[in-house]
Amino acid sequence: MTEGPHIPLSVILNKLDQVEHLETISLTGGEPSYHIKIVKDYMLPILKYARERGIRTQINSNLTLDLERYELLAPYLDVMHISFNYLNADDFHQVGFVNAQRTVGQDTATRMYERMVNNTIALSKGGLYVSAESMINTRTHEKLPQIHQLIDEMGCKRHEVHPMYASSFASHLPMVSLDELRASIHGLLDSRNRDMWMLFGTLPFFACNELEADRLLVKRLREEPNVTVRNDPDGRNRLNISTFTGEVFVTDFANEPPLGSIHQDELDTIFARWESNPLNQRVNCFCTAASCCGPNLLVADSYYKTVDFKKRQALI
Ligand code: SF4
Repeated sequence: MTEGPHIPLSVILNKLDQVEHLETISLTGGEPSYHIKIVKDYMLPILKYARERGIRTQINSNLTLDLERYELLAPYLDVMHISFNYLNADDFHQVGFVNAQRTVGQDTATRMYERMVNNTIALSKGGLYVSAESMINTRTHEKLPQIHQLIDEMGCKRHEVHPMYASSFASHLPMVSLDELRASIHGLLDSRNRDMWMLFGTLPFFACNELEADRLLVKRLREEPNVTVRNDPDGRNRLNISTFTGEVFVTDFANEPPLGSIHQDELDTIFARWESNPLNQRVNCFCTAASCCGPNLLVADSYYKTVDFKKRQALI
């Protein structure tokens, strides 16, 4: 795998320095740790910078490479985030390479799957906080309890669950219906390890929904122990920077054009630009009583095309 040249580390650190209220940084890819040089010369210095500044960090990795490179990062990292949507190596082979540019054989996929599982177990045992994320889609919506059990057995501290939306990298996938989604979440809540923290995000169920079944699910999620429903950070308190081009996006999944570039603007300026963007105005609602910041753009586009959320209010 080859990559284009990265923006110099000093430029990135300088831009981060200019953000007054920076609380978290996520390093994502592809697989950001694919090149050991990037691990040592880029990722480690950013993590050390963040640790010194008291900023929390997350790396999104598939953990399919040698354990040693992850052990280099672990002492400076708050959360190692992995995707886990599988019941076994065959599942991984079928699901994990849908968007791959080259064909990956079963043997290779099996080796990668086993390394991911073993690395997750080793890093968890070593004390690293590993958070595994599963997507709810047409392939997984009936398998979530078993996927959850495997995540628990690998020692992960948190299970994140998000519906999958039609976006640039998953535009070919059929959507699960809201009824299927609701049933899938109830099934997972019924069977989960109640001692493990579960973090749900980008759910399409809101306290202002007229359908009683939606409000009942919202209520259940509020009342379950060790369950959090996260407000969507994209465009609320997060921007996404490409370390190759310097372009800044409101979301790393939607097909919206960049909001600006770190070569021309400060990050605070780019964020202010987003706040007055018409797209943001469509979903920028806020109900204090429900602790809700409204839907993200993909959610609104997928399930609520005709709804003006600014005219709604929480009912519970
Ligand atoms: S913030 Fe928006 S989406 Fe959330 S309950 Fe209120 S009106 Fe509905």
